[in-house]
Amino acid sequence: MIYLDYASATPVSEKAIKAMWPYFNEDFFNPSAPYLAAKHVREDYEAAKAELAHIIGAKGDDLVITAGATEANNLAFSALDVIKTEHKNSQALVLETEHASVLELGKKYQAGLIKVDHTGLIDLVDLKRKLTGNTAFVSVALANNEIGTIQPLAEIAEIIRKERETRLITGNPIPLIFHSDASQALSLIPISVARLGVDLMTLNSAKVYGPKGVGALYQGHQVRLQPISAGGGQEKGLRSGTENVPGLIGFAAAAIEAKAHQNGARKRYESMAKILKAELEKSPVAPAFLGNKKHQLANFCPVSFPGIDAERIIYLLEEEEIYLSTGAACAASKGVKSHVLKAIGLNDAEIAGSLRISLGLQNTAEDMAVAGQRIVAAISKELARY
Ligand code: PLP
Repeated sequence: MIYLDYASATPVSEKAIKAMWPYFNEDFFNPSAPYLAAKHVREDYEAAKAELAHIIGAKGDDLVITAGATEANNLAFSALDVIKTEHKNSQALVLETEHASVLELGKKYQAGLIKVDHTGLIDLVDLKRKLTGNTAFVSVALANNEIGTIQPLAEIAEIIRKERETRLITGNPIPLIFHSDASQALSLIPISVARLGVDLMTLNSAKVYGPKGVGALYQGHQVRLQPISAGGGQEKGLRSGTENVPGLIGFAAAAIEAKAHQNGARKRYESMAKILKAELEKSPVAPAFLGNKKHQLANFCPVSFPGIDAERIIYLLEEEEIYLSTGAACAASKGVKSHVLKAIGLNDAEIAGSLRISLGLQNTAEDMAVAGQRIVAAISKELARY
């Protein structure tokens, strides 16, 4: 098998599995229980939270552990509900290329959409134009999940800081919160919430070689949130329900491991992507590599072969146990055209011919050569059929 869809899911690392294992049986106790054995589990849970938080330059208390990034994004938007109780006309802005979970929340809150350029990079002029005195919430993912474009969060934060300053001077009491979904970026680039200037940040275990269904929301001290579930008051009362102890332990172990190998992995991805691209250049239909060459996650290699039916290519490759996708797994499974590729200005033929290739730790240089050759062979086969 050659797996090239790490943006959709990563295998759980051996270290993470090992770290999780005791918490399924020996140390299965509810961390809220009163006896000593359970208290030890509580300590381990809090220690894992602190370690995870440390990776983004935060404290354990700043994190709310959730059942995945979708839930963390939903919790993040509750900041807007809180603001709306005092300032009814508060509005949100989201980047037009956000993951479905943020985009759907944007729709729910009738958010304005911030434009991107043809590489997927945020249009800062559009942001400034749309940022009004009523804007209370801005959500921009650190890296896009279809084309890997990395956004200049610190620059966005600076625009937001200036707007806050103006509000202070003019006596506008509406707070302005900056949220970023860093699901795809955590294992690939160094992250510091302070340096990036974000108030809320979503993290995702499933993309960093941790277990699925576990995520976290970083909550800056100045941000107030509303509970997304009522119950026993776990996670600062914001996400009630018995803690997923093995989930968080696995998430933290995987994230620490990914962070330790970040630089080496990035270099490997860069050299592997070169091999893959060189093979794809041999295609009878010229490839158009998508995204931003300078600001792109190193493991992303999104490409379009205009006029080719990428879905058929995927099925042909599946027969050879090569797995890749056409876009975000959720959109692709519904047969919906990618809103990201539309936003960067691709036409229908370019969108239909697009493959999302994302590399990961198990890939080798040889995989790249083989996969590249097989993709080109599948394209040639398709051309012959036309
Ligand atoms: N945000 C981004 C950027 C993602 O890539 C994903 C996963 O595909 C999610 C959110 C949703 O994550 P989950 O399905 O774990 O809730």
